Amino acid sequence: MDKIQVLKPKYRTDEVLNEIKECLDTSWTGMGGKSIEFEEKWKDYSDLPHAHFLQSATAGLHLAVKIFKEKYGWEDGDEIITTPLTFVSTNHAILYENLKPVFADVDDSLCLDPDSVLDNITDKTRAVMFVGIGGNIGQYNRVREICELQGIPLIVDAAHLAGTKTSRVWTDFGAMRNAQVGWDADAVVFSFQSVKNLPTADSGMVCFKDKEDDKTARRLSWLGIDKSTYDRYNKGTYNWKYDVPDIGYKYHGNAIMGAIGLVQLKYLDEDNQYRNLLSESYDYYFNMLDLDTIEPIKNTLIGDSIHSRHLYPIRIKKGLRDFVMEELSERGIYCGVHYLDNTQYSMYNYAHGTCKRAHEISSELISLPLHLHMSNSDVRRVVEEIADILPEYDKDKSITRGLLGRAKK
Ligand SMILES: *Cc1c(COP(=O)(O)O)cnc(C)c1O
Repeated sequence: MDKIQVLKPKYRTDEVLNEIKECLDTSWTGMGGKSIEFEEKWKDYSDLPHAHFLQSATAGLHLAVKIFKEKYGWEDGDEIITTPLTFVSTNHAILYENLKPVFADVDDSLCLDPDSVLDNITDKTRAVMFVGIGGNIGQYNRVREICELQGIPLIVDAAHLAGTKTSRVWTDFGAMRNAQVGWDADAVVFSFQSVKNLPTADSGMVCFKDKEDDKTARRLSWLGIDKSTYDRYNKGTYNWKYDVPDIGYKYHGNAIMGAIGLVQLKYLDEDNQYRNLLSESYDYYFNMLDLDTIEPIKNTLIGDSIHSRHLYPIRIKKGLRDFVMEELSERGIYCGVHYLDNTQYSMYNYAHGTCKRAHEISSELISLPLHLHMSNSDVRRVVEEIADILPEYDKDKSITRGLLGRAKK
């Protein structure tokens, strides 16, 4: 039997190589060139007003926190409300700026629970960090409303949300269209790391609502170098004569990653659609087997919304999660856990026990294989193997028998 990985990127190799070849032939592999072209294409695709291409989403999250800290005059020790169910980048970005991650609990969608966000607001709360797990957005709109009412910025960690679109919003032209989730946030950060649903090799994008923040990000992502003043007077003759008003970082993206991104972006909607098909198959088979131990994760995107389906997570109850994962890996099926409750890590254990639901869910979570190299029969094999591992499994209710039963009718 072939092995099935949990996440496995697919590249349009020939097309990607052609784009990269252009970079090499024109000797433009670093900052600029195709990295700018990718920013423009990403803005066209997402309808976000600004986009700055970076080495990673982690860099983007850090810049968002840093820029808001300076802009709004936050002090060390001020608080940002965040989720314990995320990749550590989200919360490290807060610590990089000597701010304090305050963990609110999640709901059944795996995203922040707005009621818990409200409970955690203090006079030191300066922002909220929202993560759309696996492409799901939970009660995002309520969290955004809370930020609006509190007058604090909302940062969206959209590492899983490339192409997750909510139902219709009005455009400037009076037409209606789907909108990339995060269009109404103060900063939204995407990851194009190799196992995300728009994979390059390693890169990310930070998209600020405010033009000035975007400008600041561009300066800070290149060591704080500000060429604009000299550009204006010297038209490039003295381009070594720039000012450095800030301590910046080496965070900017490069043309090679941009070249890969340009190709992958063309297929993003198509790829997400395929991920949705596989997910529907999972739903269908689990539904047919109706296993008490399995609890799918609620999809809160409704109507004509589009789910990126970066992950297909389920909950395995009755304390069987670890057992099922081990058994599956013996059968060549590799799963993941997205994520371990971050308050279990030494870095964040000051908050251990504060988010009971996240903790419980985290102990039951498993991300099943979902990627573009899979077929429907792979999905079926995964579900059948899971069922076969579970003590409650009744062979008379197997997928094959279920399908035969239906066919007879
Ligand atoms: C992958 C990921 C990140 C970090 O992305 P990089 O581009 O690897 O820095 C941040 N947050 C979440 C939720 C992620 O899954």
